[in-house]
Amino acid sequence: MSAKIIDGKAFAAGVRTQVATHVARLKDAHQITPGLAVVLVGEDPASQVYVRAKGKLTLEVGMKSVEHKLDADTPEADLLVLIDGLNNDPAIHGILVQLPLPAHMNSDLVINSIDPAKDVDGFHISNVGLLATGQKSMVPCTPLGCIMMIKDHLGDDLSGKQALVIGRSNIVGKPMAALLLKENCTVTIAHSKTVDLPAEARRADILVAAVGRAQMVKGDWVKKGAVVIDVGMNSLAPDEDGKSKLCGDVDFKEAVKVAGAITPVPGGVGPMTIACLLQNTVTAACAQNDIEVPEVLANSTRFTA
Ligand code: NAP
Repeated sequence: MSAKIIDGKAFAAGVRTQVATHVARLKDAHQITPGLAVVLVGEDPASQVYVRAKGKLTLEVGMKSVEHKLDADTPEADLLVLIDGLNNDPAIHGILVQLPLPAHMNSDLVINSIDPAKDVDGFHISNVGLLATGQKSMVPCTPLGCIMMIKDHLGDDLSGKQALVIGRSNIVGKPMAALLLKENCTVTIAHSKTVDLPAEARRADILVAAVGRAQMVKGDWVKKGAVVIDVGMNSLAPDEDGKSKLCGDVDFKEAVKVAGAITPVPGGVGPMTIACLLQNTVTAACAQNDIEVPEVLANSTRFTA
């Protein structure tokens, strides 16, 4: 039997349609156009692609998109001045500083200079603390997309499920584990020092791989019927056509034969990340204007592709 393939592209399109509906309502009923500002420092090619994609999709759902592109050698103080201006701009409801920043900048200082209410990436220390203590917070986009897809497949009640998150980064692994814990899963976080990772994986009803190692999770690591969410994005060496392909942290061809549901790479977690960024921006715009966040966005779980 083969696993259900979770179509992240279609799921993300569904989320963006919901977001567009709420943007239209905010405009009609409250004369508010949610605004997202993205700040890019330097010329990192991958970051440029992400920023372009974010800008395009922001406009597509009817929001205002502002891009600030700064030279790689911009002094940190200038970036902080720019962020301060965005914090105080009522037309901007969400601010995202594209990471990684150049080496001369202190990323923690920069991220923590964003108004937490506008921190649509959920990386500000206040939002990190709120999430870690199980309180309402801005949730980082990639883990938010993952939990939405997990719940769409397993239903709202994840109580008692064994969950394994491989990876403990601040942007994916740790917030992912916090979200699963909030849903009453029994959560294990694995990392490079974990002893016998395959054995940990075989116990997991929900397995989230966020490592950055191509096809590391093998089919015989996966419990029969498990939900496998592959966050990894790894470029494989170019094939005969000279084209390099993207692959995940999970050996998809093997895992698909054992899992109950699995996200592909590409077309799984990736598209959901931007959709969740747009959703967070609408949520932020509502909160900043004392407008109740629509139920469907507040729960963020029952989107069906
Ligand atoms: P990261 O900061 O490099 O963290 C990687 C984690 O994997 C670390 O905790 C590391 O452990 C762990 N690890 C490394 N080798 C391991 C091994 N052999 N066994 C077990 N654990 C191991 O990466 P990240 O930013 O979380 O990203 C992870 C992957 O997700 C990357 O491929 C990235 O491109 C992708 N990503 C995708 C999206 C998306 O939208 N689809 C968004 C963000 C990230 P230690 O802590 O012990 O070093």
